Amino acid sequence: MKFICGIISFVLGAIFGSFANVLIYRIPRGESIVFPGSHCPVCGHPLSWKDNIPLISYILLRGRCRYCGAKISLRYPLVEFTMAVLFTIGFLITGLHVQLLFVWTAFFLLLVISWIDVDHGIVPDELTIAGVVIGLVGHALLGVPSLLTSLWGLAVALVLGFSVRFLGRVLSGREAFGEGDITTLSMIGALLGADYVFAGIFLGSIVGLIFIAGYYLVRRELSREVKFCPFIFASVVIYFLVSWCCNIFYII
Ligand SMILES: [Zn+2]
Repeated sequence: MKFICGIISFVLGAIFGSFANVLIYRIPRGESIVFPGSHCPVCGHPLSWKDNIPLISYILLRGRCRYCGAKISLRYPLVEFTMAVLFTIGFLITGLHVQLLFVWTAFFLLLVISWIDVDHGIVPDELTIAGVVIGLVGHALLGVPSLLTSLWGLAVALVLGFSVRFLGRVLSGREAFGEGDITTLSMIGALLGADYVFAGIFLGSIVGLIFIAGYYLVRRELSREVKFCPFIFASVVIYFLVSWCCNIFYII
């Protein structure tokens, strides 16, 4: 049963990964996410269902458009695969529990937001607001663990986010923490609770520093503009895995 549910989670993740690609491309360009249907960005030819099967189409088409032969970015299957793996990990750790809906929603929105942040340096409010609403309404309706947990997570994100932003401005005189980072943390607080907000800020800073150091060692130059959302995303996934490991040790 668990194996079948794991496979379903993987397939569902790949499908949501495909939808994530649509959001990542269209939202920053102000395009509708429904119309027109999927088309090749080079020749504009509409894509049939055969060209749109997550992961499989890319392999069958050998990474090229069926109509014009243009190379399809490796990013598309990469996003689909990442989402599929995250959905599977989410299920394996959380199990068939209501909490899984919040975990999947957080992973999905964080992946989309992180790519948009890297590409365009913006965090669309419609995505973070959707995350906050799903967190608050979902916890209020399902009561797992409770609306209070969600509200507390949101409050901690706002207080900590604005404090770090204020401190950063006073100490370094620069914008250390953007509004998009605060709205992303608010979404995490509402969906997953205050623990993940702490992880997002503090673990995210450590992951960010490791990235900057690694970048310097490889390129021998400082990365010009560092986007924080991917580090928040990475730290949420790391914290999710670590708290699971801690639980196992606790049980043993
Ligand atoms: Zn084409």
